[in-house]
Amino acid sequence: MGQDDLIRLDNVTKTYQAGAPPALADLSMDVAAGEVAAVMGPSGSGKSTLLNLIAGLDRPTEGTVTVAGRRIDNLSESGLARFRARHVGIIFQFFNLLEGMTVLENVALPAVIAGRKRRMAETRARDLLDLLGISDKAAAVPSVLSGGQRQRLAIARALANEPTLLLADEPTGALDSDGGAEVIELLTRLHRGGQTIVMVTHDANVAHAAGRVVRMRDGRIAEPQPGDDRVGPASAASATIGPASPAAAGAS
Ligand code: ADP
Repeated sequence: MGQDDLIRLDNVTKTYQAGAPPALADLSMDVAAGEVAAVMGPSGSGKSTLLNLIAGLDRPTEGTVTVAGRRIDNLSESGLARFRARHVGIIFQFFNLLEGMTVLENVALPAVIAGRKRRMAETRARDLLDLLGISDKAAAVPSVLSGGQRQRLAIARALANEPTLLLADEPTGALDSDGGAEVIELLTRLHRGGQTIVMVTHDANVAHAAGRVVRMRDGRIAEPQPGDDRVGPASAASATIGPASPAAAGAS
């Protein structure tokens, strides 16, 4: 466990129902700032539970969860909501876009909800659409976009509040191979920019693009596999997208 750990779980157990086997069983793991981790494993092995605990969407039954230097396992519901608004961007398999709004409005919405002025929120949204290569679609409604574009839009929205962590649940699960490749290319650029990402995936291409694979089985981390080696952010000197403030990752 290093000093630059952004996420740390210590001896975490999650039991949903008394008598049922725990969804997570005495699990400890850490994720460093700037790391991209792909969580893989059979259905029911605890992947979504793990993601929910890191996202502050749920709390463990036992053990501690520390994110950005702060314990979140003992926060109240409102404390968790504030933690999520400040630190977490999340994307889902089925995008969860608002179809009654334009692309630009979808991306600006989280910042407006967080209390920013609409003009500022839309300026940041335009910058994100630009970086993500869909600025020509700003005035369109999401339904005219391709699957890959829709997920890129969802990623832009997740980045609206400059989250410390980007979390993803099967980000390519609903996409064809072209759409999946677009999303993987974007995630790779975010990785190069220093964005910390944890994603649940069954997609070997996504896992390959991640710096690290965490394999789960029966609520525990399975024995290390050859693909589990960590690598730092890619060092290529190409254009990068990262947290607007690199110091944000260390802030509490
Ligand atoms: P995965 O994402 O790997 O498919 P989950 O974390 O969804 O695994 O589930 C792990 C275990 O916890 C499973 O046995 C599942 O049935 C159980 N589980 C998950 N969510 C709930 C819940 N809300 N209530 C009761 N049991 C749950």
